[in-house]
Amino acid sequence: MVFTALFICLFAVGCSRSENVARETVSFEGGIMGTTYHITVVAELSDVASASTAEAIEHALKHVDGKMSTYKADSEISRLNQAPGGVYVPLSAETFAMLQLALEINRETEGAFDITVGPLVNAWGFGPTALENPPTEEELAALRKLVGPDKIELDSLTNSVRKSAKGVYCDLSAIAKGYAVDLVAELLKSRNLNAFMVEVGGEVRCSGLNAAGVPWNIAIEKPVSEGRVLQEVVGLSYISLATSGNYRNFYEIDGKRISHTIDPATGKPVDHALASASVLHERCALADAYATAMMVLGPEKGMEVAERLKLPVMFVLHGEDGTFETRQSDSFGRFVVK
Ligand code: FAD
Repeated sequence: MVFTALFICLFAVGCSRSENVARETVSFEGGIMGTTYHITVVAELSDVASASTAEAIEHALKHVDGKMSTYKADSEISRLNQAPGGVYVPLSAETFAMLQLALEINRETEGAFDITVGPLVNAWGFGPTALENPPTEEELAALRKLVGPDKIELDSLTNSVRKSAKGVYCDLSAIAKGYAVDLVAELLKSRNLNAFMVEVGGEVRCSGLNAAGVPWNIAIEKPVSEGRVLQEVVGLSYISLATSGNYRNFYEIDGKRISHTIDPATGKPVDHALASASVLHERCALADAYATAMMVLGPEKGMEVAERLKLPVMFVLHGEDGTFETRQSDSFGRFVVK
């Protein structure tokens, strides 16, 4: 169920034009994709407060949800996942492009980002179905045969996809939220609304300046599972930020943390010192996917790949004594608000 609350904070934010026209901050928020969204736009009220903006935002979010949710049995991606192997399944150009992008990021991240991990995600209890018991080694070995970029064949002439076997299952949870952010951002720009912050489930895209006339201040939280503690603040304009981590969506078995980021190479939840990875990129879909890839790659290999891809990243690592250590790629520092 998507609902949109429209909050209009009316306050003059300085002269946007000679006739001293006030610009307002208008917020939209609601629930979608098992999480929440918050959108803040700075504009002249006449430009943005129309109910049609709220409706257009809701439509865009439901549009992505309807195509790319594995939590909806009738979504496009679910229809692909339900299909038998060996037959081409036609998709919309949009979902097809998402699969193409996912395969490209799979190559760039040396296999770390892999949307075909769906059977493993579900087996470890992080998909739409509740966990019975963690998978046995034998079950993992069988499921890993369904995972890998070679398990899906894309035909760009017909925008259709063929799975190598019925059990192949694509999970877009690590890229489609970011894509939804990009879609809302493009929608706002198409309405000549160019100063905004769009956030869906923690993935953020900022454009222009905030109400105070400076880049949008976005907080990155400490990777603690209780409460919200500030780690860093970055000032963003015309760029996106995504953070992935193992501190929110996890459970423990015999004191060992089982998190929702799965290493396709082992079939198991990642097990290293990296607690969270934040990535900046112009497109939120890419920031989203790269952040998950960094969580799979771990602190050393992740930083090597980030530098190769020239990605501004910040890693927060678990220290021995319960403290945290942060590491930033060369290009991240200029975004930090001192
Ligand atoms: P991210 O790091 O961004 O993503 C982690 C997720 O990516 C994992 O949960 C897993 O699904 C997947 N993943 C794990 N390892 C890899 C890997 N190596 N490569 C690629 N992907 C991997 N949740 C609900 O509870 N109810 C809903 O109705 C619901 N609907 C959704 C609809 C859509 C369109 C999407 C995209 C997600 C939906 N979700 C829903 C899922 C929820 O939003 C996820 O928890 C969220 O997408 C995970 O994002 P994150 O930022 O927490 O972690």
